[in-house]
Amino acid sequence: MRLVVDLNRCQGYAQCAFLGPDVFRMHGEEALLYDPVVPEDRRPQVLAAAAACPVQAILVDAPGLREVDPVVG
Ligand code: SF4
Repeated sequence: MRLVVDLNRCQGYAQCAFLGPDVFRMHGEEALLYDPVVPEDRRPQVLAAAAACPVQAILVDAPGLREVDPVVG
C-alpha cells in the first residue's frame, strides 16, 4: 500500500507515530519521517494513524500516489 502525508498540513502532533510506529516516526520535535510504501500487513496501523491525525494530513491509496523516497517534513 502507498501513502502520502501532506506536510503542509502536518502540525507534528505525532498521533501517527504513536499509532503506527513501524511507519511513522518523529525526527526531533516536529519533523515527521514516514515510509511512503508500506507492506499490506501494516494497513491497520496506517488507517488508525490516518483516522487519528487531527488535520487529516495522511492520505492512503490516493489516486496518483507513486513510489517516492522517504520524506522529511
Ligand atoms: S498525526 Fe498528522 S499532524 Fe500529527 S505528525 Fe502525524 S501526520 Fe502530522
